[in-house]
Amino acid sequence: MTKIKMNVPLVEMDGDEMTRIIWKMIKDILLLPYIDLKTEYYDLGLEYRDKTDDQVTVDAAVATKKYGVAVKCATITPNAQRVEEYKLKQMWKSPNGTIRAILDGTVFRAPIVVDSIKPSVKTWTKPITIARHAYGDVYRDVEYRLEGPGKAELVFTSENGEVVRQTIHDFKGAGIILGMHNIDDSIQSFARACFNYALDVKQDLWFATKDTISKKYDHTFKDIFQEIFDAEYQKRFADAGIEYFYTLIDDAVARVIRSEGGFIWACKNYDGDVMSDMVATAFGSLAMMTSVLVSPEGYYEYEAAHGTVTRHYYQHLKGMETSTNAMATLFAWTGALRKRAEMDGIAELADFAGKLEAASIKTIEEGTMTKDLALLSEVSDKKVVNTEDFLKEIKVRLDAML
Ligand code: NAD
Repeated sequence: MTKIKMNVPLVEMDGDEMTRIIWKMIKDILLLPYIDLKTEYYDLGLEYRDKTDDQVTVDAAVATKKYGVAVKCATITPNAQRVEEYKLKQMWKSPNGTIRAILDGTVFRAPIVVDSIKPSVKTWTKPITIARHAYGDVYRDVEYRLEGPGKAELVFTSENGEVVRQTIHDFKGAGIILGMHNIDDSIQSFARACFNYALDVKQDLWFATKDTISKKYDHTFKDIFQEIFDAEYQKRFADAGIEYFYTLIDDAVARVIRSEGGFIWACKNYDGDVMSDMVATAFGSLAMMTSVLVSPEGYYEYEAAHGTVTRHYYQHLKGMETSTNAMATLFAWTGALRKRAEMDGIAELADFAGKLEAASIKTIEEGTMTKDLALLSEVSDKKVVNTEDFLKEIKVRLDAML
């Protein structure tokens, strides 16, 4: 069999612990035998990040801007314990945060839907993708705890010295105050990322805020989305046969629960934080969640939504075999390969990505799965396998499809 050729490399960001082990297995078993895989490799494993003073993370993000598509393995975000464990020079920042700051993107998280694993919400038959705004609001707020009476004011001093002053509250006793912000530029980027992604996957886009109560703050989000939609996307959405739908957040929640899924739900920062966990849990498992960072300039970085599965890695180090779910990491690869195929016009590669996804879903639906899914799956005759055997089972089905 001749291998599928690629023209432009994928930016490959390797990572840590169990997902690093899975990363290599996926390449060896499911990619390299079929594709003349072209990647530009960046080792984001913690040891090499430390060795390069985290320059490798920056280089990988810059390369993503150059080539357009990256695939990333889960990585350790160091805390005090990791600094000790890896004898780090310093407590390096989260690689995802660094990459996001350089690419300025929106993260879209979507569950991998498998027939035999029923979501807790019975009506959900199609995936719900959460798009979370990743800037500002309560995550960059200023908070104050006051212990006695006094007047709290909101004061804005413009560049030319003009002062606007509003009373927040005349406190008669102790209380709390919070000041938060967002930036039009960031909201505009978020809106465009959502509209582009919806066009990309041909799904409706929902957006919701509390604009009836928050008449300036949340209303600005609503207005910016509507203005950008009207000016730049209305016709393209109509041509693609998809809709942009805005509603109040409480109405959205009710509709989401009653829906069959199959749309993108754009959320403000806090809503996205909460709702993505709800959606992931209701669809079954973090190990079945994919994640893609989409920049407003059209750069894509695919990854699994979960971490490095540390507990399994320590077992692996002791020589024990583990049944770690490789689906989300595998779908990060197929997502990136499909995007590369689309950009470079390589139909064969897109076809391969689709078949690999189908083969992996078929494997689970036919009853072969990792331990985490065994509890969730409704298949009666289950075969729980270790990670390597799971990938080999996928290969059997993939070969039959090719
Ligand atoms: P985790 O996602 O690795 O694990 C959370 C829980 O889910 C664990 O019980 C784990 O066993 C289970 N789990 C997750 N993925 C699984 C899979 N594929 N198969 C089977 N079970 C799975 O998160 P954590 O334990 O909070 O963090 C571990 C490390 O991962 C930390 O060092 C953290 O910094 C890092 N992390 C990285 C990313 C990323 O790179 N995007 C995201 C989250 C956490």
